[in-house]
Parts: sequence; C-alpha cells; structure tokens
Amino acid sequence: MSDPVAKLRAAVRDVPNFPKHGIVFKDITPILVDAQLFRASIDVFLERCRGQKIDKIVGIDARGFLFGSAVAYELKVGFVPIRKKGKLPFKTETASYSLEYGDAEMEMHVDSINAGERIVLIDDLLATGGTSAAAAALIAKVGGELLEAQFLIELEFLHGRDKLQPTPVVSFLKY
Ligand code: AMP
Repeated sequence: MSDPVAKLRAAVRDVPNFPKHGIVFKDITPILVDAQLFRASIDVFLERCRGQKIDKIVGIDARGFLFGSAVAYELKVGFVPIRKKGKLPFKTETASYSLEYGDAEMEMHVDSINAGERIVLIDDLLATGGTSAAAAALIAKVGGELLEAQFLIELEFLHGRDKLQPTPVVSFLKY
C-alpha cells in the first residue's frame, strides 16, 4: 500500500459504543503514535494549503490542536485555539451550538485574529458540523476571512458540511 491516504484510512480505529452507546468513535491515535503516519496526516493538510495565502490556522479543541498546530508550524503562520467554554484565560468571544441533548459553547480569545486575516479551520473529524459551524461563527465575529474548513475525516452520512455553508469543506478520509 503506497497511497498515503489509503494507509491513513487503514490506521483509523473504529471503537463502537464510545463515548456512549450507538456511537462508532473514529480513533486517530494509531496515526499519531506512528511516526510515518503522523507525518503523512500532516502532509495531506499541507498539500491542500500550499499555494493559498494563509495568515493563521485555527484548530478546534482538542484533536484539531494536534493537526492544526503542526500544519501552522510548517506553513510558518500563527495558530489559534478554539476551546470548550471556560478553558481560555483571557477575554473571549463565545458561540453556542446544539448537542444531542442541550447546548454547548466554544470560545476564542478576542485578540487572536485581526480583521481581514485569511484563515483555514482544521479539526480531526466532521460529524454533524455543529462544532465547526460554531468555530466559523467565532472567526466571522472578529472579522476573519474563513477560506475553508479542513478535516482528516468526514462522516458524510451526517451532512455536516451543509451547516458550514458557504464555507468550502475539504476532507481526506470519507465514511
Ligand atoms: P460535530 O460537531 O458533530 O461535527 O462533532 C465534531 C467534533 O466531535 C469533532 O471535534 C470530533 O473530534 C468529535 N467527534 C464527533 N463524532 C465523532 C466520532 N464518531 N469519532 C470521533 N470523534 C468524533
């Protein structure tokens, strides 16, 4: 198997009934622990980013930090963390989104993006799209220009990309 995307796909581990009954969790830690696969996972994002003028990468708590920060390092641009409510120490913008039961909130530091900066959003997985739509709303609130949202994995049957419209969505492993 020489195709890096096929190798990445083969390494993703399905964990049924985690974190609760009926969910099949896509575990990406087998990619992280393997030096070649980890590099390959960063490379698929980098290939997509090359040729685009990008000012900052925004990563979503928590696995979006693993991929997003490595991509930002390689592109020599800044990295902005979007975190679950209550984790960021300074003044924040907040966006709420719905979960299966009730609502949750994501936060971003108010001074992390300047108006007009060109942003790529990165997370490990797109499911229903609620989390990344909240992240997109935060980027919009501070005047960032969201070029596209990139995900290692997309669960297509949940139609999460519809929630991100009109932001272009790119994913590398589709299920
Ligand atoms: P959503 O808001 O439904 O698109 O959920 C996306 C967020 O939840 C991402 O940050 C993922 O890391 C996590 N997530 C949702 N579903 C799964 C799944 N089946 N396996 C792994 N992570 C998931």
